[in-house]
Amino acid sequence: MLENVLENGENQKELIVYASLGKAARDWPAYHAIVDTLKQLEEGETLVIQSGKPIGIFRTHKRAPLVIMANCNLVGRWATSEHFYDLQEKGLIVWGGLTAAAWQYIGSQGVIQGTYEIFQSIARLHFGGSLCGKFILTAGLGGMGGAQPLAGTMAEAAILCVEADVARIDKRLASGYLQRKTSDLNEALRWIGEAVTTRASLSVGLLGNAADVYPELLRRGIVPDIVTDQTSAHDLLYGYIPSGYTPERAVAVRAENPDRLKDDAGRSIAAEVRALLGFKERGAIVFDNGNNIRTQAKLYGVDNAFDIDIFTEAFLRPLFARAIGPFRWIALSGDQGDIAKIDDYILQAFGDNEIVANWIRLAKVHVPVEGLPARIGWFGHGDRTKLALAVNTMVREGKLSGPVAFSRDHLDAGAMAHPNIMTERMKDGSDAIADWPLLNAMMSCSSMADLVAIHSGGGGYAGYMTSAGITVVADGSEIADERLRTSLTNDTTLGVLRYADAGYTESHDEIQNKGIRRIATEQYGGNPYA
Ligand code: NAD
Repeated sequence: MLENVLENGENQKELIVYASLGKAARDWPAYHAIVDTLKQLEEGETLVIQSGKPIGIFRTHKRAPLVIMANCNLVGRWATSEHFYDLQEKGLIVWGGLTAAAWQYIGSQGVIQGTYEIFQSIARLHFGGSLCGKFILTAGLGGMGGAQPLAGTMAEAAILCVEADVARIDKRLASGYLQRKTSDLNEALRWIGEAVTTRASLSVGLLGNAADVYPELLRRGIVPDIVTDQTSAHDLLYGYIPSGYTPERAVAVRAENPDRLKDDAGRSIAAEVRALLGFKERGAIVFDNGNNIRTQAKLYGVDNAFDIDIFTEAFLRPLFARAIGPFRWIALSGDQGDIAKIDDYILQAFGDNEIVANWIRLAKVHVPVEGLPARIGWFGHGDRTKLALAVNTMVREGKLSGPVAFSRDHLDAGAMAHPNIMTERMKDGSDAIADWPLLNAMMSCSSMADLVAIHSGGGGYAGYMTSAGITVVADGSEIADERLRTSLTNDTTLGVLRYADAGYTESHDEIQNKGIRRIATEQYGGNPYA
């Protein structure tokens, strides 16, 4: 799994996996030490990792996690991007992204179903159920943003992706996530216009800067149906490329005058977000795609930046309230046939689960393999456990060529607190409470997950988030049955309870229907939302 996150990463030399600074390990010596230690680790031992560096091997017991880690957790008052950069410079800390340092990243497909479900939700809410003949404008074709063009065409739309780095465009063309590229705005608009008219799906990568292209489209009176952005706007120093800069110039200015780079990035983001607000005013569906772009714009003078909705609240919350979220499985054998067999099992065993069955049918046809063959599927409470146990049986019976790892994005019901992304505008106002991800990690250790990680934000996300991640391996053994059953069930149980605690009716249905043991303090006279 560690090697796989690097295989799929954006800049292997620097150990950078995605989101501008999300790294797989502290540095190369730490990486090699981890690999050697993992090879020697014996049953009943646990490897402990602190911010991407192995610390020691502990004698635990044979049902304990094999690896536990804490990455980038700074004490509240010190959790600022400046302090993070300083510690990073000294080699004392690393930002693990959500899935990079926790060795759970599976390439752009890690967010592809999430992006697709957002588009589908917009189609249902605003366009009579289909994005055929609709124009989506977005930016950023990096590790995660690279999923957007394929999610857009899978949703049958015409999608224009503005990207400042030609190498990223070429990478997405090569992986099959993107269809066409140009550096000419007029040509891009002509292609998109033709696709809209003929109701054909199309993805176009436009070499350009979002801070220039978005305002220019608005100036020309061109209003897309849907507008978002997935550049690394969260990080002014290492992420967002300001207007007038090439990626190389950003690197040079960062070394010479970092404050200037930050200010230029902040001002460009402000210009882009003003254009986003302009599109919204003219009727486009505009949303923040989880990159803190509104937060940065507000710091740079766009007071109404938060008039733009966050995708989680606008489109996905009813799913999270049932603990339905980005679950994934990875064929450690490297055999694509294993994923195909699991696809077939899912279509047969979960045929009445519309979200999953529709997705698996599409993914089988459209989603290319990157690194180890893997699949993402938005499963919820009970279903994740059922799938994992069935797969463990398939491994045991020799129906698959090797073990399968189960994991999920940290952006999951009970696993993440981020008041500007995951937990914005929670019903009970509990947006900034980070107890839930911490409980999630402790519960996952008690529940015998193989790997458990606690992460907080780094770079521009410093002070903004806390999350937890788990991985459990189906190796066909009896112990794996126990680990999978307990850890996956308790993981989603906590997710349902987190949302029930915040007052979401979907969670209360789930509790009733699936026998979750909630302690209802309101029966003792307590306030249901306190
Ligand atoms: P990345 O650093 O790999 O890629 C960012 C891309 O944006 C790069 O290719 C860069 O060249 C491009 N870019 C930067 N400034 C630009 C500009 N002004 N105009 C055009 N292109 C520009 O990052 P990533 O992994 O793709 O993640 C992107 C953002 O999405 C991050 O902020 C990340 O935290 C966030 N994210 C959101 C979700 C979610 O669930 N919605 C999931 C993962 C990541």
